Amino acid sequence: MLKYNYHTHTYRCNHAIGEDEDYVLEALANGMQGIGFSDHIMLPDFSEPAIRGEYSCFRDYVDSIDKLKKKFEGQIKIFRGLEAEGFAYYFPYFKEILACNDAEYLILGNHSMMNNHRQIITHFGQPTVSSIYAYRDTAIAAMKTMCFSIFAHPDYFMSSLPIFDRDVMKVAADLIEASILYDIPLEINIGGIRNGKKQIGDKKRYLYPNPEFFVLARKMGARFVFGLDAHAPNQIGDDEANCLAVRFAHQYDLQILETVEFKKGK
Ligand SMILES: [Zn+2]
Ligand SMILES: [Zn+2]
Repeated sequence: MLKYNYHTHTYRCNHAIGEDEDYVLEALANGMQGIGFSDHIMLPDFSEPAIRGEYSCFRDYVDSIDKLKKKFEGQIKIFRGLEAEGFAYYFPYFKEILACNDAEYLILGNHSMMNNHRQIITHFGQPTVSSIYAYRDTAIAAMKTMCFSIFAHPDYFMSSLPIFDRDVMKVAADLIEASILYDIPLEINIGGIRNGKKQIGDKKRYLYPNPEFFVLARKMGARFVFGLDAHAPNQIGDDEANCLAVRFAHQYDLQILETVEFKKGK
């Protein structure tokens, strides 16, 4: 069903498993035409071992995927990307790795906020009223760099909120508007579906994707893409989750792009 997936991790982030090649073999076995690796970005002078690989792994990541590109040439397209947060400190670095093609593309997965001293000051999975605005501002600043080709789980800031009040929907609308302005597709994150529904306040729901976000995005005219957010090779062909994602898109009348164009920063 899914021809292209641009959201795939590797063991280097320390919370994914399997060999890089296993992800490609799974993609081939599932009849896919393209797979993009987008491991959590390794950053110079910054360590966050539970979230991302050390910067010293980066060259091996690049080499490993380049080897797979050669090995599977003619069978499947393989892309070499990274998933990064809206860390303004590293915007020049993002531009640099796109310019020198160490990364063919970046996706925006805005999990946390960093200050100018390279310290993580907020985790957006456990948001507060003020942090949802920080999520918005950092994500929009990131989109503005034109370095990001997909906005992964854009509704991440809604994950653990029991109610979607006016502030929450304002943030949603501002994010959607920016995604349209900068022409960045919004990802329907299949990882969130695969993880199942959780009790949040008085509702049982996925942490993401959230219908409230995507219905608004459709109304406003945003574009959409699926992302597997695979952290294990067998998640590529998880038919149950993948079918539920198709049903989600169908239910809310979301047209899904099969491929995306890569942005290179401006
Ligand atoms: Zn991850
Ligand atoms: Zn991811």
